[in-house]
Formats: sequence, structure tokens, C-alpha cells
Amino acid sequence: HHQVHIIGGGLAGTEAAWQLAQAGIHVRLSEMRGANLPGGGDMTPAHQTEGLAELVCSNSFRSDDADKNAVGLLHQEMRRLGSLIMASAEPAKVPAGSALAVDRHVFSAAVTRALADHPNVEIVRERIDMLPTSGMTIVATGPLTAPALATSIGQAAGMEHLAFFDAIAPVIHHDSIDMDQCWMANRWDKIGPGGGEGKDYINCPMDKDQYQAFVQGLLDGEKTEFKEWEANTPYFEGCMPIEVMASRGPETLRHGPMKPMGLDNPRTGRWPYAVVQLRQDNASGTLWNMVGFQTKLKHGAQVELFRTIPGLQNAEFARLGGLHRNTFIQSPKLLDPTLRLKSAPHIRFAGQMTGCEGYVESAAIGLIAGRFAVAELLGRDLAPPPADTALGALLGHVTGNVVSADYQPMNVNFGLFPTLDDVKKKQRKEAYTARARASFGAWMGAMELA
Ligand code: FAD
Repeated sequence: HHQVHIIGGGLAGTEAAWQLAQAGIHVRLSEMRGANLPGGGDMTPAHQTEGLAELVCSNSFRSDDADKNAVGLLHQEMRRLGSLIMASAEPAKVPAGSALAVDRHVFSAAVTRALADHPNVEIVRERIDMLPTSGMTIVATGPLTAPALATSIGQAAGMEHLAFFDAIAPVIHHDSIDMDQCWMANRWDKIGPGGGEGKDYINCPMDKDQYQAFVQGLLDGEKTEFKEWEANTPYFEGCMPIEVMASRGPETLRHGPMKPMGLDNPRTGRWPYAVVQLRQDNASGTLWNMVGFQTKLKHGAQVELFRTIPGLQNAEFARLGGLHRNTFIQSPKLLDPTLRLKSAPHIRFAGQMTGCEGYVESAAIGLIAGRFAVAELLGRDLAPPPADTALGALLGHVTGNVVSADYQPMNVNFGLFPTLDDVKKKQRKEAYTARARASFGAWMGAMELA
């Protein structure tokens, strides 16, 4: 008999399940992928496997620098709370400079195995179409929540859903890349925390003419048509299609994903005019991801244009870019400080549905949702983490009492932290993270979580 029902076995649902199970609580984890329903309806438009915690696009958990970066700090806080997602990333690591990137299959398998082997977790392959009317529940069905459940959530919460776009970047087979034209290097030859030689990325150089022709190609290329319901839905800055960025001005890409700074081309000894960077996507290094090249160009147009990039003239694509819907609720209005639906407090929300953005953030909200559920079931007090920690700042965005008319998903960032104006700008990041570490430790101690 389960004590908590978790719907959705993605980044958030698996982390919540782990936190509950580790506290001795029995969990039913419902995941529709793998349910083999007659007539389908058991996949999302972006997932490709039946594995739990599948990473649908990039294979990166972004910066692992806990001193200077907000998401790196969040990694550290999650590790301190015994995160399954962070622990499962370790054996799956691939080289990515100062970022934490993983082989997505090794990672998903580690998460799936840990839960399948846990005596307090029952994984059930089933699609849930209605919000349960009773019993403690955590809804973690993500940006691609199946339509029937999305409707049920809309009815229960009495609110309008907001949809916007997320885009996927293409992935290339390594043996189709012409390494006589590209070279391996990190920006400024920076060596990541995992060591190495500072040569993790493949860099494809462009001269001025090639860059200008490429930008024009992005603007002219045939795009996927907008559906009616998609009209007027805003893009989220973090996952903006490359052609939308290109439309902002001829120099925009050279100052964004195609930035050449700190990348000396060994064949010329100089920075090229612009660069396309590829990042290793799987452990064996056979697949490489075009960093920042999420796009809604039609597949044929993508192949044609991306093969004009020096080094990629014969590129074979394991996956082309694409565009998808996102679903999230107006959580500052609808949820209480422990992520419960105010109108139906047996239901908690977690993950991207709450309006956080990204794998790590979704898992982090899953983690704290799990911890809140544990505290509620065991009759313990659990104050939310302080606002000057990464987890507290992110949770503050989601449950904050400042309700903006235009609530938008957000990655964790120092802009969500209480300001430290008296510290010089150069030392500010370290000051934020040092304050957060102390504050997080004090909170863990007071809550007896250590
Ligand atoms: P998910 O990980 O999506 O998990 C939700 C789970 O619920 C899925 O397994 C799904 O099958 C299941 N489910 C859905 N409906 C039901 C139902 N009715 N019954 C049972 N199970 C159900 N983030 C990044 O950090 N980097 C990226 O590059 C990136 N790219 C993205 C690209 C796309 C196309 C999308 C849609 C999102 C992307 N994101 C990216 C965001 C990322 O997907 C999410 O932040 C993260 O996976 C969300 O975690 P989650 O647990 O909330 O949802």
C-alpha cells in the first residue's frame, strides 16, 4: 500500500520518489512511457525511451562551479540533501569543461535502477488522466504533460494554461565531422573540474563571408509552420531558436552561441570571425551536440544549411532540431509555500509544471516537494530553505507572493537572490555562494536534515 502517489517519472518525479523512499515512505510512481497502451498515447513528443529521468535535449546539467555559478551552487545543495539525480550523474559523466554533462542513457539507467531496486518504490507503467480526488499526490508530469491530465489540472486549478516553445538542438555523428577543419579546445583553454586538457569542445571556424551567408541562410530558411494555438506564445530566452536570435541583428549570434572569443584556431593562430561549438553528447564520444542550435527550421533546410558550416560539409545527423510545447501553472498564485495546491492540498506540484526551467531546477523542486511531503506525513516542521540559498531562491520564484501578471519559467540565477550591494562586483558571485553555503548549513542543522 502506497502512502504517496507520484505522477510522472521524469527529473522531478524520480527525485521526489527517492526522497520519500529514503525516509521510509512507500511510493507509487506512475509513468506513462512504457505502458504500451492500445492505440498509443503513452509517449511525449520529445521523449524517445522508456527510461526514467530521460534528458530530452541537451545532455548537460550546466555549470558545476559551486563558487561562481548559481546552478553549480544548486548542484552542491542537492548533493548535500542526498539527491538521486546528482548521484546518478556521477557514473554517467562525459567531458564538458566546467559543466556537468552526462551520457543520457547511462544516467537514465542509473536513476531507473536505483528506484526499481528500492523496497519502498513501486514503479507502475500507466497513464493517469485525472487528478486523484484524495490521497497524498505529487504531480510531476513536466512540460509535455499528457493532454487529458492537463485538462484535469486546468479544471482543478481553475486557471488557464500557458503554452510556449522549447526547442531542441541537432546532434551529429562524430565520424562525419571533418576534423581537418575543426579543432578541439575550451574557451580560454579553461580546464574543468574533472581535469583533462581543456580541449573538450569541437570548434568549427567561420570567416566573415561564411558567417554573413550563414546568418542570411537562417533568416531565409523554411520554418515549421505555427499552429493556431501556438500563435502569440512567447519564447523563453534560454531556449530561443537560433533563427529567432539571428533575426535580432547581424551581430547577435557572434555575441551569443557563435562567439569566437578565447578560441585560437591552431591553423591561423587567431580567433576566427565566428565559431560553431559541438559538445560531446554520449560516453563513447560518437555523438556531438550543436551547442545553442535549437531551431524550428524544417529538417531539409537544417541539413542543407548546417552542411555549409566548415567541418560539417558531410555531417550526418543523429537528430535534427525541433520545437515543442511547454505547459506550466501559475504557481505563485495557486500553490502554498510547501508546493500544495491551495484549492486541493492533498496535491503537490513539482518540476517544470511549477514554472522552473531546466533539468536541474526541475529535479531540485522535486527534491524539496518530496521533503515537504515527508515532513507532512511524519508530523515534522520543515521551513522552506532560506531565500539566500539556491534552492530557497528557486522555490521563492515558484511560490513567491509577488504575483506577476506574466509569470514565466526561470532558471536558477543570482538575480533571484537577495542582493549584496555593498560587495564589489568582482567578488559578488563568491559572496553570494559563500553566504548561501553558510545559510544552507544552518537551515539543514536547524531542520535536523544533516
Ligand atoms: P519530465 O522530465 O518531462 O518528466 C515528466 C514525466 O511525466 C515524463 O516521463 C512523462 O512521460 C510523464 N507523464 C506526462 N504525463 C503523464 C501522465 N498523464 N501520466 C503518467 N505520466 C505522465 N532542460 C534543460 O536543462 N536543458 C535542455 O536542453 C532542455 N531542453 C528541453 C527541450 C524540450 C523539447 C523540452 C520540452 C524541455 C526541455 N528542457 C530542457 C526542460 C526539461 O525537459 C525539463 O526541465 C525537465 O525534463 C522537466 O522535468 P520534469 O520532471 O518536470 O518533467
